Amino acid sequence: MNVADSELVASILSTNNFKISQDIDNSDIIIFNTCSVRQHAEDRVLGRINNEMSRKQSKKDLKIGVIGCMAQRLGNKLNEYNRNIDFVVGTDQYRNLPEIITNLFENPGFESETIVNNKEIYEDLYPIHSGKFNAFVTIMRGCNNFCSYCIVPYVRGRERSKAIDDILKEIKTIGEKGFKDITLLGQNVNSYNYEGVNFAELLRKVNKIDTIRRIRFITSHPKDLSDEVIKVMSNSEKVCEHLHLALQSGDDEVLKKMNRGYTAEHFYKIVQKLRKAIPEIAITTDVIAGFPGETEEQFQRTYDLMKKIKFDYAFTFKFSPREGTKASKFKDQIPEEIRLERLQKLIKLQEKITLKKYKDQIGKTKEIYVEKVSKKSEDELSGKSRDFKITVFKGDKSLIGDFVNVKITDATGWTLKGKILN
Ligand code: SF4
Repeated sequence: MNVADSELVASILSTNNFKISQDIDNSDIIIFNTCSVRQHAEDRVLGRINNEMSRKQSKKDLKIGVIGCMAQRLGNKLNEYNRNIDFVVGTDQYRNLPEIITNLFENPGFESETIVNNKEIYEDLYPIHSGKFNAFVTIMRGCNNFCSYCIVPYVRGRERSKAIDDILKEIKTIGEKGFKDITLLGQNVNSYNYEGVNFAELLRKVNKIDTIRRIRFITSHPKDLSDEVIKVMSNSEKVCEHLHLALQSGDDEVLKKMNRGYTAEHFYKIVQKLRKAIPEIAITTDVIAGFPGETEEQFQRTYDLMKKIKFDYAFTFKFSPREGTKASKFKDQIPEEIRLERLQKLIKLQEKITLKKYKDQIGKTKEIYVEKVSKKSEDELSGKSRDFKITVFKGDKSLIGDFVNVKITDATGWTLKGKILN
């Protein structure tokens, strides 16, 4: 979402006579787009902001600004934290950036704009896509779910969906520009609803756009992933065989306390339905270790469910209390060392499962969208399979941007190796 928002901001600025620079040393304005989802993300960006401030000594007119979720969450407090920050602009106020920055060059000082606008969907703006082959397309913004640990609804406001015609037009144009793989984006794409058109219908329509070849979407909420969406996924040739579905916990009581709106059994049933409808599907997930009050038995249930489901990959995190959320106020916080210990157990388990999942691909032939020369060798190319696995193989650079069939010959925990067949 932040990558997509950075692309949106780049578009807003460049259509207002600003030039996007690739060289920080020669930039007159530095903008940090920030994440608030965990404390670690905020700490890191605060460190980065402090590091860049020394540039102001040699370039007095340099403006440094903060946008995104942390800007929305902290607002003026950021200026108290670092007096040299020039502007702070929240997630719904990006249209005002050109004016705010221009004013600052005329009247130096501090500007902050963090008013929530639950209607802002940036509908008439087209992001400048930073990649060459894969493009993000924001279909909705905000979230109504209020999972008890999550800061997103507070910093990104209520759910609103982009007009279907705008989305279809944007995707068609993206495809004409050469992007063949698009990812529909939203905090909860399954609750997309524009004047009665739901997510399944949107997927059906996107599948008909002839300028693109692959469709992905993130993020899906398990409580909203309908049978209709699963059916459309299995019937639509362009929808890739990959789904990211956040489990968070395998214990019903913890899930209730998280306000997730589903049970472990319900989640497991969705996975079964998905695998039945789309046998080649890769399922990835997010899991939190050490949520407040999580007992050893409850943690074990999460561990056991992960073992039973066997995700292709899992993003595992230790619980990070976010100020202002319900879970940060729970009295039964789990000590840091236990959170870490549980996290390590989940990582170890998933590493084994992922390796096995990748080894299971050996012998299969996969369609790979060739993206670049591999980092490790000039003779090798790297690209992604439909089920979102990075695949490396020998090949000529002229194939970059093409789709090739690759026979998988080897696998590590993260990467497939193979041989081009055509
Ligand atoms: S669904 Fe829950 S975890 Fe996801 S953004 Fe909304 S509140 Fe956060």
